[in-house]
Amino acid sequence: MVSLRVVEDWLAAPGPAAVLEACRELGSILLPAECVVCGAADASLCPACLITVRHATLRPFNASAGAGMLPEAEGCLAGHGAGAPGPAEPVPLPVTAAGRYAAGLSRVLLACKNHGHTDLLGVLAEALARALHQASSSALPERLALVPVPGSLRGRTRRGYDPLELILAKVRLRGLLPAGMDVRGILSYRRGAELLSLRSGAQKGLGAGARRKNVHGTMTAGRPGNLRGMTVLLVDDVLTTGATLAEATRALRASGAQVAGAAVIAAVRAPAPTAAGPAGKSPELVREPAGRSMAHAQRPRSEGELTSRVN
Ligand SMILES: [Zn+2]
Repeated sequence: MVSLRVVEDWLAAPGPAAVLEACRELGSILLPAECVVCGAADASLCPACLITVRHATLRPFNASAGAGMLPEAEGCLAGHGAGAPGPAEPVPLPVTAAGRYAAGLSRVLLACKNHGHTDLLGVLAEALARALHQASSSALPERLALVPVPGSLRGRTRRGYDPLELILAKVRLRGLLPAGMDVRGILSYRRGAELLSLRSGAQKGLGAGARRKNVHGTMTAGRPGNLRGMTVLLVDDVLTTGATLAEATRALRASGAQVAGAAVIAAVRAPAPTAAGPAGKSPELVREPAGRSMAHAQRPRSEGELTSRVN
């Protein structure tokens, strides 16, 4: 992963900022902008859709209940209430989501992630910052290492950039990081696992069991014990089954870190149980407003298209 500081400095420098602005202006002349949500002309996100997306991310919530493959929370058992008899049940890792992966927010994410709309980084940075503040307002230590789930070699090769890295850089540039949080890019994919994932294909379309098997053992946070004493808040763009966060948590715990929870921009609503099992696709992912076409961002085809970080 490229150092966040390097990305930040590059984005903040007057030269690159001017070049980006010039490219945006040239792009709007050659390819007139359309709202990625409703298709209205002249802006990548029209004022009405901007309000809708902001409104959808105003109240971050705990999305753990919708992700069946999350790991257990550390040192936190619950289930039967104080004084109730019987064994306590393990609770999943708490994951704070800024909003639901529904029409507006999902299209902004897709446009930024898969269609080069880096002009929408600011909207997503605001949403992520709200989730981070909510997560840090829980009973967490004062010092938290904010650890992003790394972008995969496949994704970086295809896109040429890591969207989550750019969004986090924007959060820092705007001074939106909660006090006491320090971004640490200490997670990475094992090189062999990355090459294997390039050959074997993306996670999209995989069932829950196959997805878990596909990601298990693919990440590393360095030598066992080298993160002892560190408390971590994971950060990712979208929560679906929780398989990726489970693998990230496994790798961090193997290196001695405590994983307090995670924060994401959007959470996919838990699909209704079907005969196909818990990995069924959410209807939100294929719903589109009647009579409207998606502008530059294409209609999402599956949860894996957006959410797999091993592709
Ligand atoms: Zn719009």
